[in-house]
Amino acid sequence: MSNTFCPLPWVNLNSNTEGSIKLCCNIQENFHIRNNERELNFGIDSIEDIWNGNYMAFHRKQFLEGKQPDTCSVCWNLEKDNIQSPRQVACDEYKDINVDTISLPTSLELRFGNHCNLQCNSCWSLSSDKIAKERSDLIDQGQLPDWLNEVWQGEKALVKNADFEWYKKDEFKKTFKKLAPTLKKIYLTGGEPTLIDENIEILQTLLDAGNKHCYIALTTNLTYWNKEFYRRLNYFHNAEIQISIDGIGEKNSYIRYPSNWDHIETNLQRLRNEIQQHFIIKHYTVYSVFNYDSVKEIIDWAYEKHDPPRRYIWAPIICSAPDWLSIKWLPKYLREEALLCLEQLDKEIYKDNRKKNAWFEYGISTIKTYLKETLNDVEENNARDRFFSIMNVLDKKRNIDLQKVFPDLACLN
Ligand code: SF4
Repeated sequence: MSNTFCPLPWVNLNSNTEGSIKLCCNIQENFHIRNNERELNFGIDSIEDIWNGNYMAFHRKQFLEGKQPDTCSVCWNLEKDNIQSPRQVACDEYKDINVDTISLPTSLELRFGNHCNLQCNSCWSLSSDKIAKERSDLIDQGQLPDWLNEVWQGEKALVKNADFEWYKKDEFKKTFKKLAPTLKKIYLTGGEPTLIDENIEILQTLLDAGNKHCYIALTTNLTYWNKEFYRRLNYFHNAEIQISIDGIGEKNSYIRYPSNWDHIETNLQRLRNEIQQHFIIKHYTVYSVFNYDSVKEIIDWAYEKHDPPRRYIWAPIICSAPDWLSIKWLPKYLREEALLCLEQLDKEIYKDNRKKNAWFEYGISTIKTYLKETLNDVEENNARDRFFSIMNVLDKKRNIDLQKVFPDLACLN
């Protein structure tokens, strides 16, 4: 295989929250699977039509010919910056892929609608109904800056045309029943998947099909404990629970508004006590302007929760969009300082062997590589202006204060 090959077109499908489909979650947002007339949808179209159509055939052909489809630019950009891409992870995972036969997908990434209890700053209306409502209210009040009004009007139109209940339709139920006995992996996210009862049904359908070997992964904001969901999860042989935590205490509550920190701490304790010992906890942190200088604080907290033999992994997700959340607009000296702190942190962590954990090391080195890359970039003042403009709007609406929670950041206005 060429060194730009990706195995996912032979194994995986990804649903967006309104049932449209991509081959994987990293494919650029607008490239959904289509036939000649329209976007296909899990709630309407058969799995055979989706899996055997032109879009999937095109991607398989591109990868077999050693090409780099434009739709996969996320991977090509990461690889250019020497950051491990989802493609490279998939190549490791599917080393023995057989590209000569095309059976139905064995891996699904499912987003059952946009129901969520939070309004995270890095999220949007198609992934949180709370954000959709907040943005729609703000548009109606008519006091938004023009650029923001335009962006949110676009989101509002997308929400208006979406059917967020596609997963309740017979066609999808039929698809899932057909795939359930042979699925090897399923990833549930949303919205907040633990708030959506059909995610419990999905687990039950797999159990009814006798498929306890299916690897279950989910992403949760951990603010809610769904006893019935976790009870079913415990029947499976392997699982990973990805928790999204971007700061400690009130910082997280601001970034992932309005999460309750005490609930997160309590639910993490429950997770550690109540799910099987070998299920992995993966703590993901969206690395952005909010927490560019909080990596040590987050890692120290995560390390406290890290209780071998359970694997507790910490990893950053570099935020490059929207640009107003990217660290690229920060003054260069702050990015240099953040890099220096991480180099110091390396020394502290590695001189104390107790703290040695390859994932923590890898996470720090990912951020360091990224920070170094950004030092060649000029500061993006427009992005900075947009950041303060949007925080101003949201602070007023939410009755919170950037200055109180992130005084150093607020000073840059
Ligand atoms: S190359 Fe990247 S974006 Fe494209 S299918 Fe593979 S993992 Fe997804």
